[in-house]
Amino acid sequence: MTVVKVAVNGFGTIGKRVAEAVTRQPDMQLIGVSKTRPDYTAVIATKVLGYDLYVPADKVEAFEKAGIRVAGTIEEMVEKADIVVDATPGGKGAEYKKLYVEKGKPAIFQGGEDADVADVSFSTLCNYTEALGKRYIRVVSCNTTGLLRAICTLRREFGVRSVRATIVRRAADPKEVKRGPVNAIVPNPAKLPSHHGLDVKTVVPDLDIITAAVVVPTTLMHVHVVYARLARSVTREEVERAFEEAPRIILVDEALGFKSTADIIEAARDLGRRRYDVPELVIWRESITVNGDEVIWMQAVHQESIVVPENIDAIRAALRLADKPEDTIRVTDETLGLKKFL
Ligand code: NAD
Repeated sequence: MTVVKVAVNGFGTIGKRVAEAVTRQPDMQLIGVSKTRPDYTAVIATKVLGYDLYVPADKVEAFEKAGIRVAGTIEEMVEKADIVVDATPGGKGAEYKKLYVEKGKPAIFQGGEDADVADVSFSTLCNYTEALGKRYIRVVSCNTTGLLRAICTLRREFGVRSVRATIVRRAADPKEVKRGPVNAIVPNPAKLPSHHGLDVKTVVPDLDIITAAVVVPTTLMHVHVVYARLARSVTREEVERAFEEAPRIILVDEALGFKSTADIIEAARDLGRRRYDVPELVIWRESITVNGDEVIWMQAVHQESIVVPENIDAIRAALRLADKPEDTIRVTDETLGLKKFL
């Protein structure tokens, strides 16, 4: 089996999860991660997890002074890799692209970058084969990934004519202390549409979709209320079965106590999920409502982890390690323990 060398540039919320996911893949080797500051996460990366750490050339001394072992510079890390997953803050990836191009390395970018940073915007259940062999792939953001998993499942089974969705966004990730709101609900923005539907169209250009978003004071998950018009009339059972059988989607029952995002996270904690991650899209079973060709449902998105499986699949697509989506989904989902929620 070919084993490809993967580097993760940017070791924050997304980067640390993607790095760990890479270590679990039989066809991938994590050759290093990068940090810009000699903080506790750098200590964990090197001393606890045993990762090779690469830093900007002008920061090597600061890391060594702090007693943190450095394997080399970020440039050297990129040189050693077969592919780079860029998980730096939004906009930085576009700057780093120059380095990836100069060193002749393919790269996976995140949803905080503009779509034109890459050859294709990507979501496994929608357009895996379109990304095969592409040098630069952008994994769309957490909300877009959540919307696309559900929409492309319905599209494949029944056809989708239009989608309208309201997105209730978490204000910040749990570790962030400088972002609000603390006590308000903020239209995001008031002038519609929100960017989420437009981002969905970077993957499924012919979809009629309009989204509206508000930001609320929570850090756990996003929630979407979605209205879709399908290409034909369906029964509730058909829709429930389509979601149930789809990879990376789990249905939870309000009647079993899943009354809020807090219950989903509490279950993930009780199940001993690492970092209480829920990379699956979570749909409330009772919310699925069907009226002829119209379907309505509510879903929750764990923003910190939902894009991790898609990053792993994007690596396989770029380097043609799996030519069919089902082949990468099987390995990714098994190694990450997906769909074993309850
Ligand atoms: P983050 O701030 O948690 O992590 C970014 C990391 O990059 C930090 O460790 C930071 O120190 C490091 N970094 C900063 N400048 C750097 C540089 N010049 N070189 C190398 N490393 C540098 O950010 P995040 O939330 O992980 O977001 C990363 C990307 O993923 C963004 O495009 C974001 O939009 C996207 N994304 C984030 C979420 C989320 O909810 N957090 C969800 C989906 C996608």
